[in-house]
Amino acid sequence: AAKQTGEPVRRWTPALDERAGEHVRLGAEIRTALDLGQFRVVYQPIVELPAGRVAAVEALVRWEHPVRGLVSPAAFIPVAERNGLIVELGEWILRTACHRLAAWRAGLGPGAPDRISVNVSARQLARPHFAATVAAALADSGLPASCLAVEVTETAVFEGGQAVVALHELRALGVRIALDDFGTGHSSLGLLQTVPVDILKVDKSFVDNVTEAGRHTVIADALFQVTAGLGLTAVAEGVETAAQAEALQRLGYRYLQGYHFGRPVADPDFAAARTPLRAA
Ligand code: C2E
Ligand code: CA
Ligand code: CA
Ligand code: CA
Repeated sequence: AAKQTGEPVRRWTPALDERAGEHVRLGAEIRTALDLGQFRVVYQPIVELPAGRVAAVEALVRWEHPVRGLVSPAAFIPVAERNGLIVELGEWILRTACHRLAAWRAGLGPGAPDRISVNVSARQLARPHFAATVAAALADSGLPASCLAVEVTETAVFEGGQAVVALHELRALGVRIALDDFGTGHSSLGLLQTVPVDILKVDKSFVDNVTEAGRHTVIADALFQVTAGLGLTAVAEGVETAAQAEALQRLGYRYLQGYHFGRPVADPDFAAARTPLRAA
């Protein structure tokens, strides 16, 4: 498979025993980073089998820190959630992503992905008028609502309340709803009864050992059956090998995402990323 290696692997991640002061410093630096434009967005292909067409891309934020280097979103997103800056950062990511797909559509026509998937944190979703923010980003970029999906985690919608109201409003706009890291929460299946969902992103932990007969494969199989039975779309995350891709295809999965198909990069080559599987 054509692997894209555009992303540096050097990452700063806080040590587990790190002092609280480090988080406070990091929080303050996020404000500066927003003002100085140190964030950027990279895009990872989600391919559709069997042809391997790039059907969608997931937008993932990056922080190019002048001293720390590339800071992992796993390190700074939780900090931005705690100090509230995720609202401003998240809106910037959303607007950047919508403009990006609008530009690809203008430049590539049918060669552009059908959809862009943007991660939304619990704190963004819980704000009143979140759907209006999304509608404004769509209007501003000229991107049709059907070209956007928001990825939310189970914990973000677990509390119910405003988050679920926002999801219904987004659905009414025509935006797709994807449940991220599906299967890792406390009530994954229960949520499907109460929350409007279109796409289930089956967590990497179920994909890792899908080539071996064992409980992960049984769960990956069951999650696909639930998705198909409910008329939803399943996306398998974290696919790193051709063997995993083939095993998932045998289980029925049609949408796969992972390093095997392409890493998140600033400007994916959609033609090069079209890597069909070996004939099974
Ligand atoms: P996520 O939403 O589950 O994103 C998938 C993560 O898995 C990404 O890490 C992606 O680079 C990585 N990944 C994709 N394919 C593979 C693979 O084949 N193998 C392995 N080992 N990893 C793979 P990343 O970009 O570091 O993001 C980590 C998390 O940070 C994301 O998990 C998401 O929860 C959060 N995040 C990233 N960007 C954003 C954003 O724009 N907004 C918000 N709210 N959260 C974000
Ligand atoms: Ca995601
Ligand atoms: Ca995920
Ligand atoms: Ca994750």
